Formats: sequence, C-alpha cells, structure tokens
Amino acid sequence: MAACREAASRNFPDGEIVGQNVELGHLLREGRSFEVPSDNWQTVKVAIVGGGVAGLAAAWKLSKDTVNDFVLLELEKEIGGTSRSGTGTPVGYPWGAHYLPVPFRENAELISLLDEMSLTEGRNADGDVIIAEQFLCREPEERVFYKGRWYDGLYLNAGASEDDKRQFAEFQRQIDRWVGWRDSKGRRAFVVPVAGCSDDVEVTSLDKISFAEWLRQNGFTSERLIWYCDYACRDDYGLKLDQASAWVGLFYFCSRVRKSGDESQAFITFPEGNGRFVNHLLERVKENVKKSHAVVSVIPSDSGVDVVCKVGDELRGFHCNSVIYASPVFTAPYVIRGFADAAPFAPAEFQHNAWFVANLFLKDRPKPRFARDFPLAWDNVLYESPSLGYVNATHQKGIDYGPTILTYYYPMCHEPDGRTKLFNYSWRDLAEVCLTDIGRAHTDIYELCERVDIMRWGHAMISPRPNFIWSGVREKAMQPWRNIHFAHTDLSGIALFEEAFYHGSRASAEVLTAKTQRRRG
Ligand SMILES: Cc1cc2nc3c(=O)[nH]c(=O)nc-3n(C[C@H](O)[C@H](O)[C@H](O)COP(=O)(O)OP(=O)(O)OC[C@H]3O[C@@H](n4cnc5c(N)ncnc54)[C@H](O)[C@@H]3O)c2cc1C
Repeated sequence: MAACREAASRNFPDGEIVGQNVELGHLLREGRSFEVPSDNWQTVKVAIVGGGVAGLAAAWKLSKDTVNDFVLLELEKEIGGTSRSGTGTPVGYPWGAHYLPVPFRENAELISLLDEMSLTEGRNADGDVIIAEQFLCREPEERVFYKGRWYDGLYLNAGASEDDKRQFAEFQRQIDRWVGWRDSKGRRAFVVPVAGCSDDVEVTSLDKISFAEWLRQNGFTSERLIWYCDYACRDDYGLKLDQASAWVGLFYFCSRVRKSGDESQAFITFPEGNGRFVNHLLERVKENVKKSHAVVSVIPSDSGVDVVCKVGDELRGFHCNSVIYASPVFTAPYVIRGFADAAPFAPAEFQHNAWFVANLFLKDRPKPRFARDFPLAWDNVLYESPSLGYVNATHQKGIDYGPTILTYYYPMCHEPDGRTKLFNYSWRDLAEVCLTDIGRAHTDIYELCERVDIMRWGHAMISPRPNFIWSGVREKAMQPWRNIHFAHTDLSGIALFEEAFYHGSRASAEVLTAKTQRRRG
C-alpha cells in the first residue's frame, strides 16, 4: 500500500481513527485472574457476551419468549459490532454491514423481525414476503469505474469480446445448475442460512479447492469474469479468489437465487446500513444491555456460570445459569476458564481477516467527468483497485444533490499479515489511501471532502478458506460447552447478518428449552 505523496500538498480533510477497543486483547492475553468484590455480584438467568447482531438476536428472542432475566454485555461504547452505524447530516452511515437480501419465505424467524419493523407489505401468492418499495435498494444500484469511465452494473459488459460473452454465459449456466440442484433429502446446495445447505459430498467437495482453482478446472480464463469472481470473494469474505474456497465462491452467486434463471433476491438497505436492524433490536432489549462492559472471564461451575466484566477500573460479576457466547469464537480460550485445555475443537481454526472502513463527509457530489457517464449509484466499484469502492449513504433517501457521506471499504487481503500492517498505519496513511483511490474516479474529491473518519476492523470477519466450512469444526463449536452456548456468525463460516441472526436465535432457543444443558463437559 503506497501512500500518495502528491496528496500531501493538497487540501487535506480532518478526521480520526474511531472505534474498536484494542486494549482488551492485550489484557486477555496476559492471562490474569480477576477478583470481583463480594458486593459487586448480581444474579441473572442468562448472560449474553457480545452485542453484535448475534448477541442482539439472542436477546430479542429471549425477550420475545418473555424471558427478561438476562444481561447483554458489550465491551464497546456502541452496540452492533460489525453492523454498527454512525449518525450524521444529512443521514446516518454504516461502519460495516450495509444491506440484507430479502430472505426466502423459509426463513420465518428473520421475516418475523422484518414484519415487526414494518418493512413488509404482506406475502405474494407463493407465500414470499413483500418488502415495501422504499426499503428496497433503488436504481441505479451499482456501477463500475474502468479506464476512466463509469459503466452500469458490476460485471463489465463494455468492451467484452465474443469469448468473454461466451464464458460469462457458461458461468451463468453453471450457477443455474447449482441453483436448481437438490440432494436426496430435497436440500439445496447453497442457501442462507448455511445450516440448511446440503452436506452431500458432491457439494462439500467444492470446499477442498479454491474458487480460483474451480474456475481454472472449468476452463474460465476471461479476465473480466475472473475479476468479477474475485470482487465477489473480497466483497463478502475479505479474501481473494485464490484464498476463498470454491464452495463459498458458488455460495455467493447461488444462495440468494430462488430458482434457476431468477435474479438474486433484492437488497433491503437504509442510509445507515444494517445499523437500522441493530437500533431496532437494541430498542427492544435496551433495559438489559450493558455497554462498556468488557467480559474478561467466564467461569463454568457445577451450579452454573460466573461472568466477570471490566467496567472502567471496576470489576463486576454475574452469577448465571447459562451464557450465550456471541463474541468471536477464537476469543473463547482467552475468556472461558478451562476451555483452552478441554475445548472439543480448535478455536484457532476460526481465523479472521482485517478490513478498514472509511466514512468520507462530502460537502457536495463529485462532478461527472463525461456528460454521458453512468450516474452515481448506491454501490460504486473501482475495477483497477484493491478496495471495494464506496457506498453512497444518501442514495436510499433519494437525495441526489448536496452533502453526502461515502463509505469506503478496504479488505487487507492483498498483503501478508494485513492485520499488523493495518495497525501500523496512521490515520493519515489510511486517509491518503482512500482519497488517492477515489481520486482516480473523482479528481475533485480533495475539494469536496471535509472529513475522513476511519474504523480499523482487526478481526472483521471469518475467513472461509478451503477446508474450513465442511471440516467438521463448526458442528463441534455449535454444541454447548458446560452451559455456554456459542452464537457468533463465525459458526456459519461466513459473516452475514442472516447467519449471525440465525445463531443468536438458535442459541436462545437452546437456552430456553435447556435441552442441551451439560451435554458435554
Ligand atoms: C466491513 C464489513 C462489511 C460487512 N458488510 C455486510 C453486509 O453488507 N451485509 C451483511 O449481511 N453482513 C456484512 N458484514 C458481516 C456482518 O457485519 C456480520 O456478519 C454480523 O454483523 C456479525 O455479527 P456478530 O454478532 O456475529 O459478530 P460481531 O459483529 O463480531 O459482534 C461481536 C460483538 O462482541 C463484542 N465483544 C467481543 N469480545 C467481547 C468481550 N470480551 N466482552 C464483551 N463484548 C465482546 C464485540 O465488541 C462485538 O460487538 C460485514 C462485515 C464487515 C466487517
């Protein structure tokens, strides 16, 4: 990542690094024991560790089932994890997740959340949910910048050769085949949530090779098709084509297509992205939520589980029956006493990758360079860039003039040890990266941009590299361990709102029925 020195001489906006508490990691690695004063203990039925979508979904489900004797403990000052958002003028903006494809009718629990949020307008004749128009991503949805011009869509049609077109059509045929594929139990090859996918070896063997290898084996060589697939892997998994498994590559293209030949499900989006869901869930359970509560120790015993939090300089404890562990799985050995020695799976298998997200506050829209350039869209992708481009926050509000906020996404998958590098860069280095990159398409960005705030996600999302999803480790991690029920999206091997929501709801259902209590341990 070479910062552009030329940028230093121009107007440079203000801004800062925001978010993420990095001190907790150091504290946990020291392996200290924490003594809570005897008068600083409380008793609750359930403690939820982590206030991302999984933890919030778990809390929502408990409260829906009229269980109110629980706490949700979140280490950050803000709730939402990688789906959190910011408030601003003229609209809010995401710090991570920014959309949810319309769920299939089978995903009844998630649809009940959409009903509760009044995003739906009933069901069609097939029973599929109808989402109110204003919540579906409006046109133009996406555009791609290539050799100085903007073009409609994500796949670069402009200038495609006959061979590019033939290969793209053949790729679509393969996708259609997988969309229509069913196993002997009638299960699809790829569907959201992952728990519903077929475990037939014809499909799971795709997890043993990279998506790049699958493309090679199937004779795909078209540069723009390969770029399109690489973009997909970077976009949803923070991995390059040769780092992601073929199973997840195909999952991206097939899991949200109802039947062969259909378009992918439409996107539900808001200016603040999935922060809208976070804020709704939070509103439902806010009495039970404790922010700035870093869980430093989870101690299972024969009578239940004790949870110790660090709140500023103070230590607080909760005696509980069960814990829903909705923090990333790799943290479990540092936090749960006895887990490092007795874990029935290897938590280190759950590897995360790093990203940074920048929000650029603009006083006005960039001017088009050509009168007939494709106009500003919701998602604006730069073909010749290691970033994913940017999303325009005012798009969904229909505000097409004046100030806006652009959310720029950069997965650190191009460099070895991207996480360490990310934390070695200063705010200025990262701001220069995003301004230089966007500046290729918008030469006026330095004049327009008043502020750049940056979030460094050290552990942004799980990495579904080959031999992870179907290695058996996820199934083991989904089993409760001594009244501790794991719930993070990691358990799907894929970081998605639907997966986090599924595991949060599932873990709560387990706690509610208590059917799995002390099954192991
Ligand atoms: C840049 C980016 C873009 C994304 N875009 C999309 C998108 O558009 N659509 C989509 O569906 N998904 C997207 N995702 C993925 C999505 O954000 C996640 O799948 C989902 O929000 C994960 O929720 P979670 O609760 O499982 O985990 P997390 O978001 O990781 O939440 C875990 C929470 O636990 C807290 N925590 C950790 N340790 C402790 C502790 N010791 N004590 C207390 N609390 C603790 C953390 O602070 C955090 O709040 C994106 C992710 C990233 C990083």
